[in-house]
Amino acid sequence: MSHDILGSVRRAVRETPAYPFEPGERAIKLDQNESPHDFPAELKEEALRRAAAREWNRYPDLTAEGLRTKIAAFEDWDPQGVVLTPGSNVLIKVLIEAGGIGQRLLTASPGFAVYNLEARMLESQLTEVPLEMGDQGFATPVAGLLEELGRGGPGLFALLDPHAPTGTVTPDGDIARLLDAADAAGWLSVVDEAYGGFAGTDHRGHVRGHAARLSLRTFSKTWGLAGVRLGYALTSPELATELRKLVPAFNINVLSESVIEVALERPEYMAAAVQEARRERERMMAALREQTHWEPLPSRANFFLLRTPDPVAAAQALKNRGIRVRPQHTLPLLAGCLRVSVGSPAENDAFLAAAREIAPR
Ligand SMILES: *Cc1c(COP(=O)(O)O)cnc(C)c1O
Repeated sequence: MSHDILGSVRRAVRETPAYPFEPGERAIKLDQNESPHDFPAELKEEALRRAAAREWNRYPDLTAEGLRTKIAAFEDWDPQGVVLTPGSNVLIKVLIEAGGIGQRLLTASPGFAVYNLEARMLESQLTEVPLEMGDQGFATPVAGLLEELGRGGPGLFALLDPHAPTGTVTPDGDIARLLDAADAAGWLSVVDEAYGGFAGTDHRGHVRGHAARLSLRTFSKTWGLAGVRLGYALTSPELATELRKLVPAFNINVLSESVIEVALERPEYMAAAVQEARRERERMMAALREQTHWEPLPSRANFFLLRTPDPVAAAQALKNRGIRVRPQHTLPLLAGCLRVSVGSPAENDAFLAAAREIAPR
């Protein structure tokens, strides 16, 4: 008798590909939009001291109330409206569980892969509106999204600002129109602000006082703590109460709690890194624009899209020189594109030297 031994794994899960990432040897890593700078050694020591002083045999707070209160104070937000998860990618899953299962998920495409993959596995009805091409590169398809929002929820509307993988921002007035239209038609809305610090944007004002809106934030990018895994939502106490039911209890461990506590007390450590990322992004793009082989597309984040005639060969040639970037050419609209993260000045110099070598003379 033969049967499929994993036959009870839902078809939607089996037919969805895994998160698209290829781990590689240690190299100049310009492929995950991480900070090139580690958490300062002195702050690491302080975090470890605090972690050591905790009781590791005891469960942590049920919903990390202590850390939640500190993040709330830092963000000037009601602690009842804060939800913490180990990485904001967990929060994306929770949002789709709350508002997407058996309902709709609306977003612009191409976007952050996690929304698409979770929607497919959780069998949410996914509507992806293609990005538009404006004179400043890719742009949020405002008219197309408004049309879909008007068709009605219930469901989850995800707006990424800055958008990923483009790094472009949506004008403030358009964000207001989109969120108003979403409220009017009964959607939950998430504004994913993972890269907000690099662009100098902040959409708390669009979320405060609106029960069905949420700002999604993370310590992975501007704070340079991707390895610690902490993401959070700023939303209404009503929506937060529902989302917290979906987050497994005791989800934030005492080690990450200690690290984030220290980071919040010393936020100035990241200001220089954010300034450097902005400066370096402009320097890299200007140098690349001098060669017809490379076409960097406008971005306000710590990464940018780089169009080139043969992206597969370019990614391989960079890899041969020890530099990893993220191919994006198989995504709709992104033919010819690589995504390049901004590294340290020395890493960016190495990238630019390699790019000069690769470009035909
Ligand atoms: C990196 C990123 C996140 C954050 O992921 P974490 O799980 O918090 O590390 C969220 N949204 C977008 C668009 C991102 O690029």
